[in-house]
Amino acid sequence: MKSYDVIVVGGGMMGTACAYYLTREGLKTAIVERGDIAGGTVSHTDGNIGYSEKKPGVDMLQGYHSLQLYMEMEKEFDYDFEFERDKKGDTTGYIIACESEFEMEEAAKRVEEMRALDLEAHLVDAKEFQELEPLVAKDLPGAMWMPKESTVNPYKVAFGYIYESRKTGLLDVYSRTEVVDILQDPGTKAVQGIVTDKGETLRAPKVVNAAGCWASFIGAMAGLDIPIEPRYGQLLVTEKTGLITQHRGFIEYGYILAKYLENGTYDRGVSDLVEAYNVCFNITTAHTGNTQVGGCRLFRGYSIKSEYKIMKAIAERAIRFFPMLKNVNCIRSFGGLRPFCLDHLPIVSDVEEVPGYYICAGHEGSGIALGPIAGKLISEYATGQELYFPEAAELAWSRFTPEIIEKYRRIEQENTRQLEELERKFEGKN
Ligand SMILES: Cc1cc2nc3c(=O)[nH]c(=O)nc-3n(C[C@H](O)[C@H](O)[C@H](O)COP(=O)(O)OP(=O)(O)OC[C@H]3O[C@@H](n4cnc5c(N)ncnc54)[C@H](O)[C@@H]3O)c2cc1C
Repeated sequence: MKSYDVIVVGGGMMGTACAYYLTREGLKTAIVERGDIAGGTVSHTDGNIGYSEKKPGVDMLQGYHSLQLYMEMEKEFDYDFEFERDKKGDTTGYIIACESEFEMEEAAKRVEEMRALDLEAHLVDAKEFQELEPLVAKDLPGAMWMPKESTVNPYKVAFGYIYESRKTGLLDVYSRTEVVDILQDPGTKAVQGIVTDKGETLRAPKVVNAAGCWASFIGAMAGLDIPIEPRYGQLLVTEKTGLITQHRGFIEYGYILAKYLENGTYDRGVSDLVEAYNVCFNITTAHTGNTQVGGCRLFRGYSIKSEYKIMKAIAERAIRFFPMLKNVNCIRSFGGLRPFCLDHLPIVSDVEEVPGYYICAGHEGSGIALGPIAGKLISEYATGQELYFPEAAELAWSRFTPEIIEKYRRIEQENTRQLEELERKFEGKN
């Protein structure tokens, strides 16, 4: 029977990042992945990395620290994961476009909040915005400009982690192998290993649940009720266009307001179609020259089917921000699932009631950006080191009690009910 220091369940962004930092600590590690490495949400995503669209506090700080770790990885990796820089070697930066004076006011507050944390952020007016992004719609009042943020190729980041971890000789990867049970000591509940769908047992005193949208199932195997659900997103891919935006990351400010919605919907004055499918604009140009345009935030269970009406809504929103997209062909569309934790923060920590059990999941729409810091923190928990930044303790599983989970479930049910009602009303009229 094989034994390891740590078994990581899931070979997505989190699982591969954990493996990288665990093997660097000298721990013999196995990744057990039921499909292929990077075959989960990592294969249905964009690659924006930054901190500006996260909530001020621990959320924004984890984005900032993760970006610093990406820059370290860029120096240390032999594997190129396409960390985007311009010809001068500067990060290409990120734009968050405002559509109204209200959004400009909100963006101004956010810029101040970031500066209070010592993070670089700028608010630009309509004229400066046109200079930064010549193809953007002429009537927009301005934007938030984040010159230090960038993008990566998510697949290549995951493969890079595996490549670099293997150099230590400490990593085994079990792909096409599903974890079906977690072994625990009947008395202390301490983790002892996992059982696979092939009937094999792998022993380890530490198991990391890095199963993304499926983390709740891996939680249930150890008696934990982990409040993570799949939140659907959809993207359109265009024919090759070359650069439409000068900044590789570009989203609308309404995305931030919609993402952190805690009470009802945010009224942007958009069409019924865009509102019904909770669509917010974002655009990224891949190295291939194809452009990805998104996106929506909906609950569709575990379905990743593309939906035609969502395609139309995304296209409408995209043309509003970049009118020239009207003349660009869409060649395909795909859907993906964000691992959404009900209080909008990921869970990255050990679990006191199950010794040896760790959770690294629930990064919703930021898992590519947050992979490095999450993997680093898990390696610190697993080796009993001080955390990379003290506020990271706020990401711990211990923040949840059954009552708190229940409270968030009620809020989420109400938000979902309102979104579904909008969609039903729209369907009724059309
Ligand atoms: C449309 C869209 C756009 C996005 N854009 C961005 C972006 O620009 N920037 C950003 O930072 N984030 C973005 N995200 C979010 C990001 O993609 C996710 O947060 C991230 O991929 C989650 O990584 P993960 O490792 O937690 O999950 P996954 O990548 O899904 O990995 C989990 C793995 O666990 C495996 N697994 C599950 N159950 C088992 C089991 N029983 N046994 C073994 N293996 C198991 C799965 O097969 C899967 O491979 C986007 C997401 C979507 C959907």
